[in-house]
Amino acid sequence: MHELSITEHIVATVLPIAEKAGAKRILEIRMKIGALSGVIPSCVQTYLDLITPGTIAEGVRLISEEIPVTLHCRSCGKDAAARRGLYLCPHCGSDRITVTGGHEYYIEDLKVE
Ligand SMILES: [Zn+2]
Repeated sequence: MHELSITEHIVATVLPIAEKAGAKRILEIRMKIGALSGVIPSCVQTYLDLITPGTIAEGVRLISEEIPVTLHCRSCGKDAAARRGLYLCPHCGSDRITVTGGHEYYIEDLKVE
C-alpha cells in the first residue's frame, strides 16, 4: 500500500527529530500534500494510528494542507495555478501546458510536548 510506506517514512523521519528535541510526545504532524501526489491524508492518519502505538508519536494527529496544482504554459510562457480538473492555461486558453507542481508532499512542522 502506497500510504503505508509513506506513513512509515514519515514516522521514521519525525521520531528522531522529536527525540533529539527532547519531546515527550508528538501531538501533531503538519504536512503539505500536493493535489496530484496521490497521498490521501485520511489513509495516512489510519496508518499512523496503526504503527505509532508504543512510540512517542502514539495518538498523533495529521494536519494536512493541500498544495495546488501549478502549470506552465508552453504557448504564452506564463505560470499559473490550475483550476481543479481543468488543464488549460488561464491566460491564453492553450492546452499546451506542463504540470510543474502538485506532485510533491512534505512534512512542514511538528507539534510536540
Ligand atoms: Zn498560456
